[in-house]
Order: sequence, then structure tokens, then C-alpha cells
Amino acid sequence: MTFPFPDGRLFIGGEWETGRGAEITSVFAAEGVENMTLAGASREDVLSAIDRARTAQADPAWRNLKPHERATYLYRIAEGISANSERLSWLQSRDTSKSRAEARALVASAAATFRYFGAVLETSDELLTAPRGDYLTCSVHDPIGLVAAITPWNSPIASDAQKAAPALAAGNAVLLKPASWSPIISLELARIVEEAGLPKGLYSVLPGSGREVGNLLVEHPDIGKVSFTGGTSTGRHLAHVAAEKLMPISLELGGKSPTIVFDDCDEDQAIAGILFGIFSSTGQSCIAGSRLFVQRSIYDRFVARLVEATEALKVGHPFDAATQVSSMVHADHRDTVEAYVRAARDEGGEILTGGARPQGAGYDDGAYYMPTIIAGLANTDRTCREEIFGPVLVVMPFDDEADVIAMSNDNDYGLACGLWSRDHAKCWRLARAIRAGTVWINTYKQFSISTPFGGDGASGMGREKGRAGLRAYQRQKSIYDDHSGQPLPWARWP
Ligand code: NAD
Repeated sequence: MTFPFPDGRLFIGGEWETGRGAEITSVFAAEGVENMTLAGASREDVLSAIDRARTAQADPAWRNLKPHERATYLYRIAEGISANSERLSWLQSRDTSKSRAEARALVASAAATFRYFGAVLETSDELLTAPRGDYLTCSVHDPIGLVAAITPWNSPIASDAQKAAPALAAGNAVLLKPASWSPIISLELARIVEEAGLPKGLYSVLPGSGREVGNLLVEHPDIGKVSFTGGTSTGRHLAHVAAEKLMPISLELGGKSPTIVFDDCDEDQAIAGILFGIFSSTGQSCIAGSRLFVQRSIYDRFVARLVEATEALKVGHPFDAATQVSSMVHADHRDTVEAYVRAARDEGGEILTGGARPQGAGYDDGAYYMPTIIAGLANTDRTCREEIFGPVLVVMPFDDEADVIAMSNDNDYGLACGLWSRDHAKCWRLARAIRAGTVWINTYKQFSISTPFGGDGASGMGREKGRAGLRAYQRQKSIYDDHSGQPLPWARWP
């Protein structure tokens, strides 16, 4: 079954309008064909969206909605996503070359995210704090105003929802800038937001280059918060801009996450988890378990089994139900990954499997790359330090707990970690000692919208998801309400 592509218009302040900016081409990299070309947002388009967002957000009809009333919009958006899941996931597969199964899972997660933040909104209490005088004290939360959400191409509908749902629930207007490689799905989500009846102006989707559209949003004085997911160098640049404005910014950035296999683990369970952790999404995942440490006593046998299991993975077309490792998002990105593997060879790395494009009919025009395992490198080598963002795993031996904690933490990133052992006390010791926003014990890459997510160090700052995810889009305010009826004594008046 196929579905039509959107008509190429942008969603600017609640109206569908043809962009006046540079052209953007979405490609289906699995086949090396063009999906569609659209005109991205111009400076005028962005300013117009901001203008309309300001008016819509300030309208008491939105600002003063009671939580249970505002939540109904989120529930309707969730229903709209679920009702259109086949179409949305098909478009997401075309836009990013993700397998159908992965695209369907991301769409389901986007619906769940809107539903969850509707529920969080309805059930969040304002706090009566302990008074220390003749007044009532309480802590309340106001919307920030205008939120810019900037998202990457690797899981667009899920990352859009992760920002838009809590930001709208909190009473803001949202200006979303998707990545130029994946504009389609964000525009389709805007259709659903519109059909849910969200008042005009509160939601805009502004595809365009980061340097023009992204920067303009971040620098604009009316934008009160930026929620960014993307690469570390971009995030660092945006943090500087935010610092100048003294504007809150949340940064979900890259990773080089360690996965640690102890000699007392269930090896079959570990191998299945490691494969999923690094090779699902073709490794284009911030939390990919891309640095594998295996205890020396089992290193040779375990790595041989891992290589054998990797070679059994099905690399193929995203629309083939048997596919486990699909095409990469774009041929340019495949070339970047390929260059990293060349550099690893130059560093002295031994390619245990992969290290090449797959050969044969069906692969010729696509941006495919074989799942690759590299050994023989030190944790300090470039291949082991930098995020490759592709199906490339580096494997290293370790001796004991202290050794592996030191190597895990000897990296700029701090996003995730996987631990494989039957000794839970040991796993908990490591879970607390390793710098990471998320630790998985005997599992990997499992997600729950009710559990906070984020990174430390070069992996970013701030947390998304969970009940506190709503508060990240609000301004906290404390109110003191006198009930003594008496003038303050300091003035000695009247
Ligand atoms: P990127 O940083 O190149 O782009 C991300 C977004 O920022 C895009 O929309 C881009 O257009 C925009 N952008 C680029 N320059 C900008 C600027 N100067 N001002 C404003 N916006 C700008 O990242 P990418 O290549 O699209 O995505 C891959 C990266 O995202 C990887 O590093 C990956 O680890 C990271 N990521 C992190 C998470 C997480 O939750 N931690 C999740 C997914 C992806």
C-alpha cells in the first residue's frame, strides 16, 4: 500500500502556505529516488509564524484553559496519530528509509506521548508550601510562551512529539523546525494537530536550514525556550546563543555509549541485546551501544559468537518485513560512516565483520552499509571516542570492574550504558558509577515515556519525558498571600 506525499506547503501560524525559502528535497535513500521537493521557510515565514504564535499564545482562550480542557487537545492529537498510523509510518519510512516495523513503533510512541502528557497535565497538582508567616504560600506554574523545538532526522515523529506534547500541554505555542532530510513527517503531524482543532497560530512547522531558520528561531527575543535534539557541536553553539539571551535550553545530544559484558552473563541474552542496541535503526540512534567492553576471560569466544550473530542479520529494503538493518537515511550519511571505518583501519583497527557496502541486486542504488564490528583499537583512539551514528561497533577487552568503569567514563559523552551480568549487586554498583543519563541492566534501548531521559557531559543537559517533563516547559512562580490583615511592622505605620 502506498500513500500520497503532502502537497509541499508549510504550516505557518495555522495556515498552509507555500514557503518562500530555499528548496528542500526529501529522498528515499533505500532506492536512491526523490520523494518530493518543497520550498522551505524563509526569514519572513519564520517571523510571520512567530507573530501569529505570540497572538495565539497570549489569547486567554488558550492561556487560561483549565488543565482538563487543554488535555482534550492532546488526546485528540493522540487519536489522530493512531487513526493515521499506517499512513504516517509509511511516510516516515519513505522520508528516513527506516524499516516499516521501526517506523510503526515510532508512530505508536508519538501517539502515546501526546496521551501521556494530556494525562500528566490533568493530574499535576500545584503545591501548597509550608508557610513561615501569616500567609498562604503556593508554587504555581505558568506557560513560558513561545517554544522553539528543533529536531533531528533519525526518529522525527517521536522526537517532534516528545517536545510538542509537553510544550502544548504547558500552555505554550510551538514552532517546530525539523531536519532538512526529514521534513515530510513533521508536516503530516501538523495536519493532525490542525484536525484536532488546536487554535490557529499555536503550532507551526518550519522546515529549513539550521543556519537560517534554526538560528533565527533561537536568537529571536520572543522565543522563551529552545528544546533541541541533535549533534553536540550544534547544541554547543545553541547553548552560547541561549546564554546571551539568558534563555532556558534543553539539549539532547549525541552519545558513544558503553555496553559491558561480564563473564557471568547470560551470553545469548547479551548477544541479542547488543545486536539490537547497535544495529537497530542502522545504528542511527543517539543511544546506540557503540562501545562494547567484554571481560577478557570470555572475550575470544563471546566476540566470535557476536560476529556470527551479526552476520545472520538481514540487511535489506525497509519495506521487506524480514529486514533488520535497513538503508541509512541518506547516501551522504552513509559516506560519512564509510569514512569513519576507513579511518578506523588507518588507526590499526581490525574489521571482524562488515566494513563494506553490501553487494548484489537490490543494494546498488540504496544507502546501505553492512553491520560492522571493529577490534584492536584503544578506548582513546578516535574511532572509540567519536559518535559515528551508523552500524559500527568497536569491541575492547577489560579485566575488572575498576578497569571498565574507568574506560566507560573516559569519554566526553554520557548518554546511556548497558550492563550484562547475572550479579545484580555488581550491576547496581556500576549503574551508579558510570556517567550516563540512562542505564540498562540485562536489556538495552527500552523506553518508557513515564521515565526521564537525557544525557550528561557532551550528551547534553536537561531531561525530557516523565511527569517532570511538563515542568520543563513552564515558569515556576511562588505566591505569598497574606491572611493576617495587618500592616507589616517594619514601616511602623499607621
Ligand atoms: P544536527 O545537529 O546536524 O541537526 C539537528 C537539528 O538542528 C536539525 O533540525 C538541524 O537543521 C538543526 N540545526 C543545525 N544547525 C543549527 C543552527 N546553527 N541553529 C539552529 N538549528 C540548527 O544533528 P542531526 O545530524 O540532524 O542528528 C543527528 C544527531 O542527533 C546525532 O548526534 C544524535 O546523537 C543526535 N540525537 C540525539 C538524541 C538524544 O535524545 N540525545 C536523539 C536523536 C538524535
